[in-house]
Amino acid sequence: MSRPILHLGFACEGSLVCRYRCCQNPNCRCADPEQRHGPYWQLSWKRSGRTISRLLPADDAALYQEWIANRRSLEQILDEMRDLSHHAAQQILATRGSPLHGRDRPRLRGA
Ligand SMILES: [Zn+2]
Repeated sequence: MSRPILHLGFACEGSLVCRYRCCQNPNCRCADPEQRHGPYWQLSWKRSGRTISRLLPADDAALYQEWIANRRSLEQILDEMRDLSHHAAQQILATRGSPLHGRDRPRLRGA
């Protein structure tokens, strides 16, 4: 399992990517793909189905990098807990003689 949940700090949505840009001025150094401007850190997240992006300075990007990693750790812990709980429930209910799940079967449409 990943880091203990109590030691995780803030957690936030979104993802962070590092970008280099060209300013479209043909006389600028960035016309050479090896000399683009940057790095710029772009944070993106979803709100009400829309993707929102912001450019961040490196210091702020480092914070978000950590918080995004924390969120991924929490999601992983939650996934593991779901799996464990599912198996535990099957075993506990089976010992009570009342298994919750028979064989998994597809949900009937229109039923
Ligand atoms: Zn440029």
